[in-house]
Amino acid sequence: SVSSLANLSVTRQVLADHGLSAKYSLGQNFLVNEAIVAKIVALAELEGADNVLEIGPGIGTLTMALLQNAKHVTSIERDTDLPAVLAETLEPWWDSFTLIQKDALDLQLSDLDGQDAPNKLVANLPYAVAATVVLDYFQRIESLESATVMVQKEVADRMAAEPGTKNYGAYTVKLRLYAQPAGRFPVSPNNFFPPPRVDSAVIRLNRTPVLDEQGKPLDGEVVRAACTMADAAFASRRKTLSNSCKTYFAGRGAGGAAVAPHLPELFERAGIDPKRRGETLSLAEFVNMGKALLALQQ
Ligand code: SAM
Repeated sequence: SVSSLANLSVTRQVLADHGLSAKYSLGQNFLVNEAIVAKIVALAELEGADNVLEIGPGIGTLTMALLQNAKHVTSIERDTDLPAVLAETLEPWWDSFTLIQKDALDLQLSDLDGQDAPNKLVANLPYAVAATVVLDYFQRIESLESATVMVQKEVADRMAAEPGTKNYGAYTVKLRLYAQPAGRFPVSPNNFFPPPRVDSAVIRLNRTPVLDEQGKPLDGEVVRAACTMADAAFASRRKTLSNSCKTYFAGRGAGGAAVAPHLPELFERAGIDPKRRGETLSLAEFVNMGKALLALQQ
């Protein structure tokens, strides 16, 4: 057994020993710099009581460091060739490790039954699913307090974007209804094997519920309605809020078609000028539109 896998020759050797090569289709870019692994663990502020959820353990490079700093690690891996590798590389920690073999996007909450609820997501994410999975897990796994994740630099920019900037969009609004950025650092391609064609960043997001006027977290229903309004407002980026929402709801079956004619009422109720554009709207304004949407639907 080795003390670290975050090294080019060790990573090549482990893959060769198992007759494997990195799979481009699964976004396999393995970390080969121990300093980056250490910085991820530090940014996540792991503590001995933490139950960590990881997506894409690969050959176990980051997982090993997580296991040394947390109570338990549960990793979700889609590649059916990797469990045999992990059984060897993570052998010393096997009692505090759970492997779930499936696509991270198909995770069911029941897959986590019988374990302590995970409180931190820490992962070097496969880039094809990175943005989707982070939002999805904050929405569905209520025990998650933070996510510290390696993503394509542009995804980190969208996650952290402010209103009025080009990276601010439906994804930004939806994610920020659940979590806020709390630190990041850049990672260049030469820290991976094989090197990806894009620049990366590790970003930490802390769950921070949006509060109502009484200072209580908003109902899940209101947050979901605000997410719908984010999709509607950015459906056609160049159009006004009013036109973008009209097109969006008109194309959403009977429920959407019932909302479309009442949009002027919705904007009035939310106190928002329908001639504005989605990118100018704050989180609070999306929440107000979400409330107005619910009121219309009742
Ligand atoms: N954690 C390792 C590291 O840091 O070296 C590997 C990270 S690599 C960027 C992404 C990993 O996610 C690969 O192991 C890949 O097989 C896995 N993966 C890709 N798509 C996945 C999916 N949809 N669900 C779960 N795992 C996935």
